[in-house]
Amino acid sequence: MLSCKGFGATSAQSPLAPISFSRRSPGPRDIAVDILYCGVCHTDLHQARNEWNGSRYPLVPGHEIVGRVTAAGSDVTRFKPGQIAAVGVIIDSCRKCDSCLAGEECYCIEGPTDTYNAVDRVDGSITQGGYSNNYVVDERFAHTVPENLSLPGVAPLLCAGITTYSPLRHWKVGPGMKVGIIGLGGLGHMALKFAHSFGAHVVQFTTSPRKREDAMRLGADEVVVSTDAAAMQAHAKSFDFILDAVSANHSLDPYLALLKRDRTMTLVGLPEQPPQFSVFSLITKRASVAGSMIGGMIETQEMLDYCGQHNITADVEVIPMQKINEAFERLLRQDVKYRFVIDMSSLG
Ligand code: NAP
Ligand code: ZN
Repeated sequence: MLSCKGFGATSAQSPLAPISFSRRSPGPRDIAVDILYCGVCHTDLHQARNEWNGSRYPLVPGHEIVGRVTAAGSDVTRFKPGQIAAVGVIIDSCRKCDSCLAGEECYCIEGPTDTYNAVDRVDGSITQGGYSNNYVVDERFAHTVPENLSLPGVAPLLCAGITTYSPLRHWKVGPGMKVGIIGLGGLGHMALKFAHSFGAHVVQFTTSPRKREDAMRLGADEVVVSTDAAAMQAHAKSFDFILDAVSANHSLDPYLALLKRDRTMTLVGLPEQPPQFSVFSLITKRASVAGSMIGGMIETQEMLDYCGQHNITADVEVIPMQKINEAFERLLRQDVKYRFVIDMSSLG
């Protein structure tokens, strides 16, 4: 067993606090990594506080991991000790269903194994995440990192990056399309960067007027404050695709009103409550509401390589581990620019 230290929650009500635990020793196909940086996803907050139910305690969050390989099993082919490796939201899957064979492990029929708060397929233990000093993972679920990218800015690509890259690719966002991004947080700012990079005309929707300038700098062609009914109305029936990356409950109707006929609004945000919308918003234009979850392993590597080629990373605020509870509170106040990333050397 590998001994680990990190920060975890012991109940839905408790703040994150120092915790010691253990992981399985690396097997022949596994790598062990010393974690350098871990991004802070809103999912970590939802799960630490059991907002989706099903959280198991103690719970160490963290699924945007960048680290240095310290050990590689005898069958490992892609990594050597000393190399940088990245780990995202899932660390295993059945590997034989249609989804897994298609490289869409996140849609594994048996369900993928999450990086934390899941039953490890290898030894039955409960997985613990990257708010910690090390991780052990099968190399099939680890990624290489382009050398030109700064590592704190890479960590958020492993969830916020792939979760937005994947639907933008799936719905073929590109030149000639008008695309809306809702919510300028961790996911939203990556969606904005990618949609801009893919050549679309991008409109950022935000509830925070103070984010307007940042949105323009991050690649928006236009910014709409969604509480301004007239500004919303000005965009009626004009969008080819809308991606919703909001973490809190809200109605979808004001945004469905902005789609053209036969278009899709895709949800990646996961508020505590189910989405609210009127069926009239769909039938009057044959619109679709869809969902999308992270992305498969091949696509995650493709996204990282794309970021290397186009010099794309997240805009981050690096924090020590000890500031995590403050960071959670700031996420709830929509006060994030635009991803907190924990410098794991602060664990000591
Ligand atoms: P985040 O950094 O906290 O950003 C969320 C943004 O939502 C905020 O910055 C804010 O943007 C907007 N927002 C917050 N409260 C709002 C409200 N009451 N009304 C309207 N907008 C509001 O969160 P994140 O890490 O990007 O995660 C976003 C969501 O995606 C979370 O629910 C997370 O669990 C989920 N997620 C899903 C997947 C997946 O695979 N589908 C993967 C990762 C995360 P403005 O200030 O611009 O309004
Ligand atoms: Zn995440």
